Amino acid sequence: MSDLTALTIAEALEGLKAREYTAEELTEEHIKSIEASRALNAFVLETPDQAVDDAKASDARRARGEVGALEGIPLGVKDLFCTKDVRTTACSHILENFVPPYESFVTRKLRAAGACFLGKTNLDEFAMGSSNETSYFGPVRNPWGQVVDDAGLVPGGSSGGSASAVAAGLCLGAIGTDTGGSIRQPAAFCGIVGMKPTYGRCSRWGIVAFASSLDQAGPMTRTVKDAAIMLGAMVGFDENDSTSAQNVVPDFQACLGQDIKGLRIGIPKEYRVEGMDQEIEALWTKGAGLLEEQGAEVIEISLPKTKYALPTYYIIAPAEASSNLARYDGMRFGLRVDGENLEETYMKTRAEGFGAEVRRRVLIGTYVLSAGYYDAYYLKAQKVRRIISEEFASAFDQVDAVLTPTAPTPAFSRGERTDDLISMYLNDVFTVPASLAGLPAISIPAGLSSHGLPLGLQLITRAFDESTLFRVAGALEEAAGWSPHPLKYQGS
Ligand code: GLN
Repeated sequence: MSDLTALTIAEALEGLKAREYTAEELTEEHIKSIEASRALNAFVLETPDQAVDDAKASDARRARGEVGALEGIPLGVKDLFCTKDVRTTACSHILENFVPPYESFVTRKLRAAGACFLGKTNLDEFAMGSSNETSYFGPVRNPWGQVVDDAGLVPGGSSGGSASAVAAGLCLGAIGTDTGGSIRQPAAFCGIVGMKPTYGRCSRWGIVAFASSLDQAGPMTRTVKDAAIMLGAMVGFDENDSTSAQNVVPDFQACLGQDIKGLRIGIPKEYRVEGMDQEIEALWTKGAGLLEEQGAEVIEISLPKTKYALPTYYIIAPAEASSNLARYDGMRFGLRVDGENLEETYMKTRAEGFGAEVRRRVLIGTYVLSAGYYDAYYLKAQKVRRIISEEFASAFDQVDAVLTPTAPTPAFSRGERTDDLISMYLNDVFTVPASLAGLPAISIPAGLSSHGLPLGLQLITRAFDESTLFRVAGALEEAAGWSPHPLKYQGS
């Protein structure tokens, strides 16, 4: 039997269908792979028994002819999705022992489609971060670190555990969440595909909230096709989420393999930011060339308010976070550190339960929402957000998709930016605008840096036009010639 952890989801579905192996065998191989790669710290909870039970149940369903869209596929789940009776922590001390009594909408859908869950993957605490260094359970390693003989390379964040796990062959795919780039940037750093759908496509019900007007779930996979397969099983209207979209869900796979002749691709000139690696700029130009060779028309466009996206995000996201995280008061669930009186209990619980980055965001958020500053910061940021959204809308009068780099640098070393938060925040410069505008976006691996590290390109399309997104991404993936095989981690 060939290496089952090196398959794509599409290949594994074929192999299962042809009875070349069972879901149980497929799952067992991934459990072994997880055990052999614990040094990555990609999983914060392994659920092998549940995974094998799920796989056996899947094999039984298949034998009866009941085959879901992800029948028998072993996946990783970011530990921000509530999973019934399975510990869910958001990688925070405050939720360290939280066992949800309910299942998130997205994980419920995936299970209904036949997926087997291998466990919960590491993330930055409450999904706040770009390097997976703020997790209460310790940092995650990027398997590509070994390429530069530096095992301390970050996987990106916040969905760093999911990205590292998919890149190293610990699962065939994983789910992440993206508030300002947390699916796309780690995907770029780890050489995999990461996709954030339109805001509202995936229900947020049962996802631990960070910034509710931005948070979206999405797939992290080794190929664009796998992302389309997974997304199809994750979406749908959910009455429990008031922002869940009622839009018709297209067949995301149908547009794969279609040519891109005549499509117009925009290159926003404002994305040529200061501090961008030469190599990234060269990759961007190469990507545009590859699309042109396939018959697309590449047009320079202008998104002049891009420079305000990051400051806007770092007002809105902390504001919403400070409000969302007010629920962790030690009273109903999560950690409680008793004080002399109620107020002291609140203070001690929150001071001990939240890490430094989370406390920083709560402070910033409380500040920008407070009387006297609300108009100057929060309200202003909301207005700028609207303008950024409108700029995208008018750009899409001219073009069908926008092409940009995913991040201004390849993966960096652990500790390199923890003392320089501005440079950490700047890593989101290309991903945050689509988040503010609620648009679908995808990062695909498109080349290597001179040090042999993966680099990603991002595509953005109109709201609810994931079909065009997958179509262009599929074409670019094929032209870039990236090999989807996992990079086994040899370190310890
Ligand atoms: N890196 C960004 C932040 O720290 C985005 C995080 C995310 O998308 N969850 O807020």
